Amino acid sequence: MSINLGKVLFFLGLAFIALGLIFIWGAETSCSWAESNIVRVAVITDATQIELTIRSPYQILALNTNEELYKGRRLWRAKVAPGESGIKIGKDDFKIYGVRIQPEKSPAIYLDGRKFRGTIDIVRQPDKRLLVVNRLDVEEYICGVLYHEVAPWWPMEALKAQAIAARSFALYQSRVNAHKDYDLESSVYSQVYGGRTSERGRTSKAVRLSKNKVLTYKNKLFPTFYHATCAGHTEKASNLWNINLPPLRGRECQFCQRSPHSRWKKKVSLQDIEEGLEKAGFKVGSIKSIEIADRNVSGRITALEIISTRGGLRVDANRFRLAVGPNIIRSTNFTVQIKNRQAYFDGQGWGHGVGMCQWGAFFMARKGFNAGQILGYYYPESKLKDFSEDYETF
Ligand SMILES: [Zn+2]
Repeated sequence: MSINLGKVLFFLGLAFIALGLIFIWGAETSCSWAESNIVRVAVITDATQIELTIRSPYQILALNTNEELYKGRRLWRAKVAPGESGIKIGKDDFKIYGVRIQPEKSPAIYLDGRKFRGTIDIVRQPDKRLLVVNRLDVEEYICGVLYHEVAPWWPMEALKAQAIAARSFALYQSRVNAHKDYDLESSVYSQVYGGRTSERGRTSKAVRLSKNKVLTYKNKLFPTFYHATCAGHTEKASNLWNINLPPLRGRECQFCQRSPHSRWKKKVSLQDIEEGLEKAGFKVGSIKSIEIADRNVSGRITALEIISTRGGLRVDANRFRLAVGPNIIRSTNFTVQIKNRQAYFDGQGWGHGVGMCQWGAFFMARKGFNAGQILGYYYPESKLKDFSEDYETF
């Protein structure tokens, strides 16, 4: 038997480096804030069963009246599911549509093994599925967002710019969604949020260093969209959504040229495209060709002409991207060729392209620009301010 000592040493070395990196970037962080600006994040939607652990004394309150229904010391891997006429938590059946779990300490709540700060609301929806909303201070929330949006090893000024953009986006959403069940989702369609489990030392430091700072335009909050890589020019928001503001008008960006996402290639079967379009409500037959009908000044496609056995169909490029899958078709800046029932996409950039280009921010910070300058570049005419309760929204 022979042992390859070189290999063993190589992997030991890798393990040491990995441990070192975990130590530097994953160290326990102090990311606790007293409740002041609460955001409500839907962390689980449409669940039929959840596993709940609470590592602190806690109360279960009625969601509509705040009346105490139960007081417990600890909860260990209790199954939460819709009951006969309410919500079952462990053996107890609460005959009510919604409860709030309020632990004495924070973070103490674990949902399906993931740790969360603040309190959670569990709501039984009309279709008998469960919605879980995490309520916590906006600063604590951003601590759980940054790790998913950027890497903890990024330059501190780029991390701070990302923290400010994420905070502004969250506070904007908490105001415009006040009448809804929650302010934010925790998916790629909103801001990806992973709770306490996703906090890292350097990202939490960026949150602390930029505490309470938000971007405003004319003293109002606006949706500070951002995306991974624009590949040359950011997108005008009004090309995608019903919002038209100077900070979201789009601008040239030469900073992200060396981003790992500046180019992408993807092979997608025409069958997958047809199915995606059908699901999104388009009537399409067997696809024969996909033509680019229009591009805008940022280089992005605005409309595609899809020729199928059912004739020609003009499809908005962004709707096409969402229908096939936003992480399959990474951007609407591409060329496409069809061969043997396969579509070969050759594209540039990643994301919708509106607002801050994250990899552009990375290279700006590398060049010595600070967070304020980075944000000023990607959101022209915006102003960096301390958040105030009085701010209105666009
Ligand atoms: Zn860019």
